[in-house]
Amino acid sequence: MSSEFELIARYFSRQPADDSVQLGVGDDCTLLQPSPGHWLVVSVDTSVVDVHFPAAAPAHAIGHRALAVSLSDLAAMGATPRWCLMALTLPEAQDDWLADFARGFHELCDASGVSLVGGDIARGELSIGVTVHGELPPGTALRRNGARAGDVLAVTGTLGGGHGGLRAWQDGERNLDDPLLAAYLLPQPRIAAGQALRGVATAAIDVSDGLLADLRHVCEASGVGADLDGEALPLAPGLVERLGEEEAYRAALGGGDDYELLVSLPPSAVDEARARLEALGVPLTVIGSLAAEPGIRGVADSIPSGWLHFRGDTP
Ligand SMILES: [Mg+2]
Repeated sequence: MSSEFELIARYFSRQPADDSVQLGVGDDCTLLQPSPGHWLVVSVDTSVVDVHFPAAAPAHAIGHRALAVSLSDLAAMGATPRWCLMALTLPEAQDDWLADFARGFHELCDASGVSLVGGDIARGELSIGVTVHGELPPGTALRRNGARAGDVLAVTGTLGGGHGGLRAWQDGERNLDDPLLAAYLLPQPRIAAGQALRGVATAAIDVSDGLLADLRHVCEASGVGADLDGEALPLAPGLVERLGEEEAYRAALGGGDDYELLVSLPPSAVDEARARLEALGVPLTVIGSLAAEPGIRGVADSIPSGWLHFRGDTP
């Protein structure tokens, strides 16, 4: 196995995206120049083989996905991504695999304006820890605790694609042109949408654990309850065809890995939010409203009978 330093030099040393990187990969630490007057917004996620992605997934998708899930947390705060660090653990250094992995990672760095500014490579079971740093004007973050009774609940894009793609993979689908498989292995963090919702949304979270679980986080942080309109859930294209209606709704409600943004908005701000997102090509769908009474209500009425298996999930 090549040394850690050779691998970093070969696959991970690149020109930074901008001159905010005073010193990048190659010294004990990296030196960064944040934008004057901004807050740093920082998050870390670890992706573990056969927990978060299948071992046989294409290496470029593994690289993309490991960064995407971290960027999704920046998106959910409305932050502008700037820099990232990667801690890569892998069982052996295969050149083809590493080149593909690095390509997937770097392509998403480029698409998001992020510079990889440091990291670490160790030998062990495949896992990728990615720390992302973003920036925000002070006080503008989209937090989980700002939702109010009377707000509208809305979600970007479609739901259930992440779980549908996992099921497609388990069924033997290997073509990344399949929209469900792409939703699972090549999720697109809603970075521009998150920034566009600053000053409009009262709260936001990315749908990583599943709509109901993430909605519960918002409700608990904000001290509100929710009335969902199950029939309004925007199901991922092809989801009903692959899973059937009942399983499709379950995937949308509890499947996770969708990396869409779930937001609360004053009713008067819905048109403005929709216009801002439409300009980015991102649909926004109203799926319910928030109320003072705690709990999550309304889904059981409009979901096929299998929904009842989910009821243990709701408060
Ligand atoms: Mg999150």
